[in-house]
Amino acid sequence: MYILNTVDEIRKFVRSARATGQRIGFVPTMGYLHEGHLELMRWAKKHCGIVVVSIFVNPTQFGPQEDFAQYPRDLERDAKMVESVGVDVIFNPSVSEMYPSGYCTYVDLERVTERLCGLSRPGHFRGVATVVTKLFNIVNPDQAFFGQKDAQQVLVIKRMVADLNMDLEVVTVPTVRESDGLAMSSRNIYLNPEQRQAALVLYKSLKIAEEAVAAGQKDTSIIRQLVIDTIAAEPLAEINYVEIYSYPDLEPVTKILESVLLALAVKIGRTRLIDNMILGVGDQCI
Ligand code: AMP
Repeated sequence: MYILNTVDEIRKFVRSARATGQRIGFVPTMGYLHEGHLELMRWAKKHCGIVVVSIFVNPTQFGPQEDFAQYPRDLERDAKMVESVGVDVIFNPSVSEMYPSGYCTYVDLERVTERLCGLSRPGHFRGVATVVTKLFNIVNPDQAFFGQKDAQQVLVIKRMVADLNMDLEVVTVPTVRESDGLAMSSRNIYLNPEQRQAALVLYKSLKIAEEAVAAGQKDTSIIRQLVIDTIAAEPLAEINYVEIYSYPDLEPVTKILESVLLALAVKIGRTRLIDNMILGVGDQCI
C-alpha cells in the first residue's frame, strides 16, 4: 500500500491503475479511523479493483470555535487499519497542497444545506462540498462511498454530483454502531466514561421513535417530542437539534406517510454528536 502526499503523485497512480482497466473506488475521510470507515472501504473493495482512501482534516469545514486543532490524528495507526482491508493507496495531502496561497474558489449549495447541521454549523457544507469536489477532481473515481451516519452530507454530495454533472456514482453505506448502539465516530474519543454512557441516549431516543412508528404513530410532532423528552432526561445531554424531514428531499412533514429522516445533534459535555434514522417505509439509505 502506498501513502501519497501530492496531487501529482495520486493522479499518476490513478491514471496508471485505470490504464489496466480497473475501476477506481474512493473513500474520503478525516482519519482517526474506526470500523465505520473500514466498512466503507470494504464496500469499495467489493465494487472496485482499486481503492483510494483520502485522509485529510479539512480546515474549511470547521467553524472558528470548532475542534479543527484538536481533531484526533494518527496516520501510522490509520495506515495499518487501511492496509488490513486491502486498500491500495492513501492520499494524505497537507493543507497547503489542498489550499495553496491565493486559493479562493468554493462550492456552495442552496436548500439542502439550509437545515440541520447547515444551520448549527454555518459554512460547514461549503467546506465539505469544496473539498469533496477537489478530491473528486484529483482522484477521478468511478464510485465514491459515504456513510449514512452523516445523512445530510450524503444528500449534499448526491445533489452536488447531480447538479454539476460529475461523472461518478455515490454509494451510501449504512451506519456502523458499537455493540451498545452508539454510532461510531472519531469524536467518541473525546468522551470520558460517564459521558460515553450518557451518549447512549442518542440511539435510545431513535429506537423509541422507531417503536412509536411501528406501533402506528404517524404524527411527526408527537414523535419529535418523544425524542426530545428522552434526551432531556439525560442530565449530561444538551440538544442542538431534533428534526424530522421528508427523505431525501428534506422538506417539513407533519405525517409519516413515506420515508422521513429523524436527525439529531446532541452535545455531551463539549462533544457534539450526530445520529439519525430513516423512519417509515423504504430503505435505510438511498
Ligand atoms: P469522517 O472521517 O468523519 O469525515 O467520515 C468519513 C466517512 O466515514 C463519511 O462518509 C462518514 O459518513 C463515514 N462514517 C463515519 N462514521 C461512520 C459510521 N459510524 N458508520 C458508517 N459510516 C461512517
